Amino acid sequence: MSTTLQPEAVSAPTQLLVGGLWVDSSDGMTFEVEDPATGEVIAVVADGSVEDGLAAVSAAYEALPGWSATPPRQRGEVLRRMFDLMTERTEELARLIVRENGKALPDARGEVTYAAEFFRWFAEEAVRGGGDLHTAPSGANRILVLRQPIGVSVLVTPWNFPAAMATRKIGPALAAGCTVVLKPASDTPLTALALGALLGDAGVPAGVVNVLPSRRSGPVVGAMLHDPRVRKLSFTGSTAVGRGLLHQAADCVVSCSMELGGNAPFIVFDDADIEAAVAGAMVAKMRNGGEACTAANRFLVQRGIAADFGRRLAEAMGAMRMGRGLDEGVQLGPLVNAASRDKVAELVDGAVRDGARVVVGAGAPAGPGYFYSPTVLVDVPSSAAILREEIFGPVAPLVAFDTEQEAVELANDTEYGLVAYVYTSDLRRGLRVSEALESGMVGLNRALVSDPAAPFGGVKQSGLGREGGHDGLLEFMESKYVAVTW
Ligand code: NAP
Ligand code: MG
Repeated sequence: MSTTLQPEAVSAPTQLLVGGLWVDSSDGMTFEVEDPATGEVIAVVADGSVEDGLAAVSAAYEALPGWSATPPRQRGEVLRRMFDLMTERTEELARLIVRENGKALPDARGEVTYAAEFFRWFAEEAVRGGGDLHTAPSGANRILVLRQPIGVSVLVTPWNFPAAMATRKIGPALAAGCTVVLKPASDTPLTALALGALLGDAGVPAGVVNVLPSRRSGPVVGAMLHDPRVRKLSFTGSTAVGRGLLHQAADCVVSCSMELGGNAPFIVFDDADIEAAVAGAMVAKMRNGGEACTAANRFLVQRGIAADFGRRLAEAMGAMRMGRGLDEGVQLGPLVNAASRDKVAELVDGAVRDGARVVVGAGAPAGPGYFYSPTVLVDVPSSAAILREEIFGPVAPLVAFDTEQEAVELANDTEYGLVAYVYTSDLRRGLRVSEALESGMVGLNRALVSDPAAPFGGVKQSGLGREGGHDGLLEFMESKYVAVTW
């Protein structure tokens, strides 16, 4: 653990942003935001009520005709200004993310850069909504397809990337001409509120983006999904909560884009460049302290190199500097809260009880703060819960395999299908395995797949729809078909 300097004051709005105004909750309720490195309360934030949620929907609904009629180029220019503003404010935003989320400052800077890129990408996509015209096969008429904004969109985001998960939704929604209500995670509402303020500075009109922190997420999101003016839900979070929201969205047949949990396999074949594979493993596992839906959750390593790979990974993991995210040189911050830390500890203890061997780590240092040491486990038995559940922390369980077929079977043996990683120097094998893997994304000799220009998303129970790329824009548009004779 590194030494702790004096924490700096947090400056971000703490009220709800509804219709361009900063307001308190209708019933005056508030909740506290904690610094996970110290447990200290850093802000008290308005706790949006059901009434506030519906007021935010009204504001978004009233702003919809104006924003959707704004020329696409003009919408794009507003988004481009937001990219510039975020870029100018990188350091300030990164430090705010560290305070409420805990991640190490280099991770937070990386997040701000990534988050801002969604505005640059969708500034460019705003003018590419497109459409279609062709002749009916019968020759009797033309088929004209218009792309129109889907309408008022509810955006619900998690705490692990407080900026990027919001901008990945706000960018395409605004580019498409939609207006939104953003409900950020209660652990990290401050970054979303800061972004709300910055969007106003960028020229987003009142009511186009409403930000509604709330600890009462079930009733508040539920009420919005039952308001017939809401046409879209874009959710990023756990599969369990996502499943419940899909049920609710059915009542008013709301269109859903869902980015849910993952259980990413990281497969290393014995012909891989082992140094590159270890470096990749560190990125796939430890970016954001392991708190990423794309985090490598299971390392499947071909038997001949398993011991060597395990040793090298343990060395790199053991050398990581853990501490308060803002402190100089820190590479790994605390987990976001006590429950997350306890869940990681429970998964590791369970694996060890089942017969796994600890190479490094496996322990939570004494507080304050919700820290867990970087951990490598080997000989993890296939029955261990740690291979089936999302770890969401700095723990790498290793499993040895013999054949390519066995690797693919092990990798696909999960209800999740977000991302998979493959390391091999045989590109034919790499592509063959990439095709066979049941996942929405594959990193082939590459540990970072997230890119605003690429379609991000999962198959199976990891989600529905894609964010980023051109697909990300289409999630916020409807096709209208006009049968026309001229
Ligand atoms: P979570 O508990 O599902 O929460 C996500 C969001 O949903 C938060 O804003 C939360 O609000 C809200 N929420 C919780 N219960 C709700 C309910 N009953 N009705 C409506 N909204 C509700 O997930 P998390 O723990 O914050 O985030 C971690 C999960 O997100 C992991 O499973 C991770 O894999 C997933 N994730 C996926 C992606 C992806 O792109 N696939 C990206 C990042 C994270 P409160 O905070 O107020 O509870
Ligand atoms: Mg917190």
